[in-house]
Amino acid sequence: MLGQLPDPITMLVKRAGEVRIHTFVSAFTGNNIANATHIVESRNSLVLIDGQFLAPYARRFREYADSLGKPIDRLFLSHRHPDHWFGLGTAFRDVPVHALFETASFIKEHGEDSREDHWKLGDLAPEGIVVPQDIAEPGEYAIDGVRYVLDKVTETEVDFHLTVGLPELGVYFAQDLLYSGTHLYLTREMEHWTRVLEGLLASDYELFMPGHGLPADKTEVARNVEYLAAARQAVADGLTGDAFRDFLVGRYPERRCPGIFDIYLPRLFGAARDY
Ligand SMILES: [Zn+2]
Repeated sequence: MLGQLPDPITMLVKRAGEVRIHTFVSAFTGNNIANATHIVESRNSLVLIDGQFLAPYARRFREYADSLGKPIDRLFLSHRHPDHWFGLGTAFRDVPVHALFETASFIKEHGEDSREDHWKLGDLAPEGIVVPQDIAEPGEYAIDGVRYVLDKVTETEVDFHLTVGLPELGVYFAQDLLYSGTHLYLTREMEHWTRVLEGLLASDYELFMPGHGLPADKTEVARNVEYLAAARQAVADGLTGDAFRDFLVGRYPERRCPGIFDIYLPRLFGAARDY
């Protein structure tokens, strides 16, 4: 246990030659939302994807990375939602953080406000923020002999989202384009989000690493498409607030982490700030 928090799930997900993919998933229970962060371990170094949310999980994720005995080359931050970057201030201050220009700018401008807005977290929140200093540009890169394809995806779960593909391994770090086994964080961009997921279904990638939940295959990507279709229909039918939540919980009783509704419903149907 991490104080009152359940242990995370850690897993060696895939091995291909000298490259190993690891995942680290925080609790599914209580108010937790199964934040999933990942490690690409290659011959000489590590590349991390996202930095966890609550401080105890961020520290444990860092311990897991350090246990592999290789230096962290960099950490890719997928997007500006705090459940992906709060942990940077807790446990990754010494690591080069690469993010889209828009993500870095947002954290520079609003990061401290976001941290203060989360005062209820107490010492589960970081003591300070980390503004990403390295801008991730879409394109192809070789890092420690591994080919990485970076892409900028706009107007889905968030306005600007970085994705990381490893074509030779068939692995795609979708982060919050994909919610694996958990309820989705819905936005007003569900139609375009669906188009993006359909693109993934048509791609050669086979293993999809989500921002929430366990590693997934294309079946789960397709389930997310279906979930978005149901949610869009519910919006078209005029459901809002609790009725909208009850509809989705009733239709998808197997999905975990209903705490996500409390985060996004005031934003989807109201005027609440989105950070
Ligand atoms: Zn998230």
